[in-house]
Amino acid sequence: MADKTFPLTGFGSVAIHGGHQEDTLSSHLTPIFASSIFTFDTAEQGMRRFANEEPGYIYSRWGNPSFTDTENAICALESFGLKNSDGTPLALKAFLHASGQAAMTTLFLANLQQGDKLISHLALYGGTYELLTKILAPTGVETIIIDLRDLNITEDTLKKNPDIKWMHLETPANPTIQCVDIDALTKLAHKYGVGVSVDNTFATPYLQQPFKYDVDFVIHSTTKFLNGHGTSIGGVLIGRDLEKMNTKITKWFRLLGGNASPFDAYLLRMGIKTIELRMERHCANAMKVARYLQAHAAIEKVFYTGLESHPDFETSKRQMKHPGPMLSFEVGGGINNGKKFINALQMCTRAVSLGTTDTLISHPASMSHSSVPKEERLKSGISDGLIRMSVGIENIEDILADFEQALKNL
Ligand SMILES: *Cc1c(COP(=O)(O)O)cnc(C)c1O
Repeated sequence: MADKTFPLTGFGSVAIHGGHQEDTLSSHLTPIFASSIFTFDTAEQGMRRFANEEPGYIYSRWGNPSFTDTENAICALESFGLKNSDGTPLALKAFLHASGQAAMTTLFLANLQQGDKLISHLALYGGTYELLTKILAPTGVETIIIDLRDLNITEDTLKKNPDIKWMHLETPANPTIQCVDIDALTKLAHKYGVGVSVDNTFATPYLQQPFKYDVDFVIHSTTKFLNGHGTSIGGVLIGRDLEKMNTKITKWFRLLGGNASPFDAYLLRMGIKTIELRMERHCANAMKVARYLQAHAAIEKVFYTGLESHPDFETSKRQMKHPGPMLSFEVGGGINNGKKFINALQMCTRAVSLGTTDTLISHPASMSHSSVPKEERLKSGISDGLIRMSVGIENIEDILADFEQALKNL
């Protein structure tokens, strides 16, 4: 058996080996524990498990070995190389959910109650915006949306609204790749006793580790780059306050019932193994696509934080290893040329979502953000002609050749 104390020094090694528990059959990969219940040898053992006096599984809505391995692998990556102020390694706990939306539901419902306010910014995933405004609002939790890139306005708002209990950040954000300063905002929020969560879906822990800046929770739609292959929907909620994770968050997770399935947990665990290789290639390709588009006469605007023209170039550089795999752009001639371009693509895939091995192209105004009011949408920079791209890991020559032929006849 491998020595579990052997220190893994590389992120890629942790992505491959992290979180694996030996089982009695010495499985190389964590099996898919397709079982809703786990048995007790005796009534007394069942009682001890319920009382949390003995480790062991009971019921898969509460936990399942396929979840545990994947959760522990994700914790190992989000805390990779991070330490507490006393020098001990940062310990995290995670709950795997059926979707990113389910993970956010547990996050918000467990941390906020009637009368509390939440502060966030304009450029949010469409589903997040709707969750806050349609599901959370009727429970009596109001969302205040401001430009969190302006720290003065942010502090002013925190000062004037003592009911603000939570700050939710998404960086980089959909689809204009806006970035907010995690470090500065977390310091401000904590100064006013406000909890902070970060949606790290676009960046993954390989590019950005929000816990480095003392945030309280990180969520992911694991559907995207963590899974990496588009094989399952999933989400994860990760926290650093272990006491809270083991009590209130555990309770809410179990009662809301948004748990993952063992098969999806398995697919996710397999996808995570190659995250370092994938992200390096996604990012290298994205940089080349951004430069190509910026130089192309048919393209009006490119939003990519790897370009100095992006207003958040500095913020992205400070907190991310690379500017990331996502970009968006406007084709000259507006929505009609945009559609013509999308329809002419031969290899790149016309689909929403992001984070698969193939390059995905979508039109936010009519797809992911169609439920956001037009005025709000325009305010967050999502024009009618904006095209979003999740740059894949194909060979760059083929991606650029597909773009070249599709742009030629506009
Ligand atoms: C996709 C996505 C979500 C929602 O996740 P699901 O897995 O679709 O429920 C949340 N945040 C971001 C940034 C996303 O891209």
